[in-house]
Amino acid sequence: MTTPRANFHDLTREALRQLVVRWGFSPVHAARLWAYVYLEHADHWALMPELPARFRAKAESELALTSLPVAAETHSRDGFTRKYLLALPDDRRIETVLMRFTGRVTACISSQAGCAMGCVFCATGQMGFARHLTAGEIVAQALHVNRVLRQATGSLIDYQGSGPGRPPGERLRNIVLMGMGEPLHNYDAVMTAVEILCDTAGLSLGTKQITLSTVGVVPGIRRLADEGRPIHLAVSLHGATQAERAALVPVAKKWPLDELMDACRYYIARQQRRIFYEWTLIEGKNDTPEQAHAVGRLLHGQDAQVNLIPLNPTTGYAGAPTGREAAKQFQQILRTYGLPSTVRQRRGIDIAAGCGQLATLRS
Ligand code: SAH
Ligand code: SF4
Repeated sequence: MTTPRANFHDLTREALRQLVVRWGFSPVHAARLWAYVYLEHADHWALMPELPARFRAKAESELALTSLPVAAETHSRDGFTRKYLLALPDDRRIETVLMRFTGRVTACISSQAGCAMGCVFCATGQMGFARHLTAGEIVAQALHVNRVLRQATGSLIDYQGSGPGRPPGERLRNIVLMGMGEPLHNYDAVMTAVEILCDTAGLSLGTKQITLSTVGVVPGIRRLADEGRPIHLAVSLHGATQAERAALVPVAKKWPLDELMDACRYYIARQQRRIFYEWTLIEGKNDTPEQAHAVGRLLHGQDAQVNLIPLNPTTGYAGAPTGREAAKQFQQILRTYGLPSTVRQRRGIDIAAGCGQLATLRS
């Protein structure tokens, strides 16, 4: 039986270098191979003509290039959002979203096929957990979006004031790990992927351009703090008391609110970095003035920002989104506690590409 090939996109540049040296080749070939894949977007060995034939044959026999073919692509009517259904090698499916805001393009990337956390209002949670993604499968999503941007014949970005006519060839600059899955449940693969994405000899994303959103996996938040990883952290809160939170986010039973708050304060102190708290606004459920005051009291004194997300529709949950006025009132109350907040722009709802809407039939 032949052993399956390792996956190229799972390797950091240093791991690739060591591997190539172990094969008995020069590290220069490793660097060239890396550049082909991450700078020139080569997705096939035949597209790397400058590699010596013997090295290329060895690399091809040992390494597979992850490719995630596009099984379906949908564009929102307003043109701001594109959703890609990507096929994994085991024929499961994941979704990746490209969102265009004024002046920037953001890729929303999945970390798992499905999710084990079961948040009641989330389509991914409603479908259950299939498996973790590998680092390479996470990286390949970013590469896919970057390729789309590079190949676009006009700018996908609406640069306010700079008019049309920006040259083609935008580069991906912002990533949110807010797609399918819970990234801190798949910690090692996600962090390897972040390292690869930020490699300055590759996609060269800034760590400050990456935001990881967690449902509140307490050990993962503490580990992030201890390891000093400089990415942005968003924590999904949704309820300001243990009982209210646990009704929406079942894993709150495992990691209760007071333990979560301890971990968040620890993170802010260790990292000297603010936390973004996410709050899905559900009409009549968690959007009352009393609840806004409870959030204010809970987070008062923390270096925090609250991102309010009016509920997006999913088939498994009947709630309605909070209206504009009630959201504004919620923000006003938060402000009295010194808490800045935003209401997330609704993007891609018509193609089910909004927060919490990502799901695939065959996960
Ligand atoms: N698993 C991570 C990241 C993915 S979800 C997490 O839970 O944080 C990204 C954000 O969308 C989370 O804050 C999540 O609570 C929110 N969300 C999930 N379903 C939603 C829905 N139907 N409408 C609005 N926001 C939703
Ligand atoms: Fe999983 Fe996040 Fe959805 Fe909860 S909101 S089920 S953690 S993807």
